Amino acid sequence: MSKIITLQLSPKLSADAESYTSMAAREAGIKREDVALVRVLKRSIDARRKPVKVNLTLELFIDQEPQPDPIHFDYPDVSNSTEVIVVGSGPAGLFCALRLIELGYKPILLERGKEVLPRKHDIAQINRNQAIDPDSNYAFGAGGAGTFSDGKLFTRSKKRGDYNKALQTLVFHGATPEILYEAHPHIGTDKLPRIISNICQTIVRQGGEIHFSSRVSGFTLRNGKIVGVSLGEQKIEAAAVVLATGHSAKDIYRTLHRDGVRLEAKACAMGVRIEHPQRLIDSIQYHQPERGEYLPAASYSLVNQVDGRGVYSFCMCPGGFIVPAMTRQEESVVNGMSPSNRGSVWANSGLVTEVRIADFEHLIPEHGALAGLVFQEQLERAARENGGDKQIAPAQRVSDFVAGRRSTSLPITSYVPGLVCSRLDEWMPQFISTALRKGIASFDRRMRGYLTSEAIVVGVESRTSTPVRIPRDKETLMHPEVQGLFPSGEGAGYAGGIISAALDGERIAEAVAKYIG
Ligand SMILES: Cc1cc2nc3c(=O)[nH]c(=O)nc-3n(C[C@H](O)[C@H](O)[C@H](O)COP(=O)(O)OP(=O)(O)OC[C@H]3O[C@@H](n4cnc5c(N)ncnc54)[C@H](O)[C@@H]3O)c2cc1C
Repeated sequence: MSKIITLQLSPKLSADAESYTSMAAREAGIKREDVALVRVLKRSIDARRKPVKVNLTLELFIDQEPQPDPIHFDYPDVSNSTEVIVVGSGPAGLFCALRLIELGYKPILLERGKEVLPRKHDIAQINRNQAIDPDSNYAFGAGGAGTFSDGKLFTRSKKRGDYNKALQTLVFHGATPEILYEAHPHIGTDKLPRIISNICQTIVRQGGEIHFSSRVSGFTLRNGKIVGVSLGEQKIEAAAVVLATGHSAKDIYRTLHRDGVRLEAKACAMGVRIEHPQRLIDSIQYHQPERGEYLPAASYSLVNQVDGRGVYSFCMCPGGFIVPAMTRQEESVVNGMSPSNRGSVWANSGLVTEVRIADFEHLIPEHGALAGLVFQEQLERAARENGGDKQIAPAQRVSDFVAGRRSTSLPITSYVPGLVCSRLDEWMPQFISTALRKGIASFDRRMRGYLTSEAIVVGVESRTSTPVRIPRDKETLMHPEVQGLFPSGEGAGYAGGIISAALDGERIAEAVAKYIG
């Protein structure tokens, strides 16, 4: 039997495996030399009081006792099995494909973007102010929006699937084992691309197919059933179609709408990215001027109600960068990510407010279920018009944004394409800017110094979730009126983030197996 021990340590001791192993052995009443293996089960930082402490839960394996097996998955060969089309290779599409293989089906993955390496090149070009490739950018390409994301693996939807298995799958494909026990697991944008490549290799090695630069442009519908998809002139048929195209595939929503496939308008959230100096966030969160050698870049999570409307921070990236996440030239969209060491001098986060169906109901008579999409496009275009060419984004100092005045200068930023001073408080829809301004003022009461001229807001964070849902039946998980069509992941409205999209993809694979079987 192993023994579980919990210790509360200083940041320095928590980083010293020899010290904490000896302390845990003492606590467990055994000799240090009898400990054959120590495994960290959980690590979290308690920064509520000074001095900051680290809680470590350890599992000690004592000499001669059976030790845990290394993580391993045995995927069968599916080269000659029934084919299932999976559109989109984001976390939902990739995990759907892996689960289909486990269940004995052959996934045919169709991905509009490129493989990881050429995609990396296109992303570098976007940051160098080159034109956006509408099929290869931060949202589109191998691994979807997950590949060059921040790689935080926290999810509120653990009940929707096997969370631990999803983390183990990532470790099996190259993620560090720390993600299995960290309270807020994080991979980092520098490590994700290799993991995505390894997952793609598993799919192909086991007999699945992945076709890059293959944009699905239409659906073959016959008598209330989907029998395949088209890629321009080429048509492909299969037993079922999983649609995991993410929330940026606006053309897919429009194609479905045109083909008479029922969609639904959905509430979502929109706002800005906010960026502070990381040392400021560290000093607020850790109650000390410097975070020192052993504490990670500090993060925060803020939420409040402003005049009955939720305002909250979203996808906070300590030690990170703001990135240009638009998929077309005429839009300005920003997001955030951080490398595994979270080593930049900036802390950024989405800062968004609820956008309800009532907020865009004036667009419903003309655009129906796509009204939210049109509202989102209007905001992204306004950001582009108030920014500049070549991904230059509109920005305002936080103190000016809250006070309602123009910034005459901007601090140095992590956003590589560049910023221009702009009155976001004026041109954003008033309900959004008012909620954000009041929200920031209220957050400053919780985190003194959050409202500062050293920080900026950058426009716009418009794609936290999709404003359109592709409905599905609760039992079969198929579209209620189109047999064999399985909407999945964030774009369909059933996930928000890497892990929840991955879990949804697995769930959909099981539903497909049930349908075909
Ligand atoms: C910069 C950034 C940072 C992020 N950080 C985090 C984070 O730290 N933690 C977290 O949980 N989430 C994060 N996210 C969000 C996360 O990446 C998404 O929630 C997740 O990727 C959604 O998965 P998905 O599979 O549903 O869709 P997507 O990842 O969007 O994948 C959809 C795929 O479908 C493809 N596709 C679209 N249309 C077509 C078509 N017509 N034909 C063929 N293929 C098509 C796309 O090219 C894409 O590869 C971040 C996102 C970004 C952009």
